Parts: sequence; C-alpha cells; structure tokens
Amino acid sequence: MHELSIAAVVVESAEGVARVHGADAVAGVVPDALRCSFSLVAEGIALDRAELVVEEVSVRARCGDCDARFAVGSPAALWCPRCDTPAAELLTGRELELAEVRMAGSP
Ligand SMILES: [Zn+2]
Repeated sequence: MHELSIAAVVVESAEGVARVHGADAVAGVVPDALRCSFSLVAEGIALDRAELVVEEVSVRARCGDCDARFAVGSPAALWCPRCDTPAAELLTGRELELAEVRMAGSP
C-alpha cells in the first residue's frame, strides 16, 4: 500500500522533529490524505495521539502551445481547454510536504 509507506516517512520525520525538541508527544502534523495509514504507523510511539492535518493542493497544468493555465480536474483531463493540445507540464498538485509539526503544549 503506497499510502502506508508515505505515512511511515511522515511519522518518521515528525518523530525526529519531536525528538530534537525534547517532546514526548506530537500534537499536530501536516501532509496528505493518509489519516488511516498514519494512525497505523504512529501507534505505540510518540505520535500515538497525533492528529494528521491535510492540506490538499489542486492539480493545475500549463499548455505548451498557448500558455493557458488550467485546472486538471478529476478524472484528470490533460488537454488544454482553449486549444485542445496536451498539457506541457503540471504546475501544482505533485507536492507532498511535511509543512508543520506542533508539539503538545506548544501554541
Ligand atoms: Zn492551449
């Protein structure tokens, strides 16, 4: 399960931050739709009671012919809505970042 390995990396990163700051529990973390895998991986360690907060980024692409920037949507449509040619690149939507870790007792 792909999400499980991503959750493991998120948990490992957050636990490292907690350790550096001398915390024995992490109150908040921020990555993707991995809540179920996250709680499985976090069980029994410092992140046992941690809450995973997910910020989703919409997928946007750029047309190589007319430079239009458009939402890809779901299911993904990678053709330019203006000139009907394939998108040249994805501008957003591939990010997966651990943006913040809040320790228990921190503001
Ligand atoms: Zn176009």
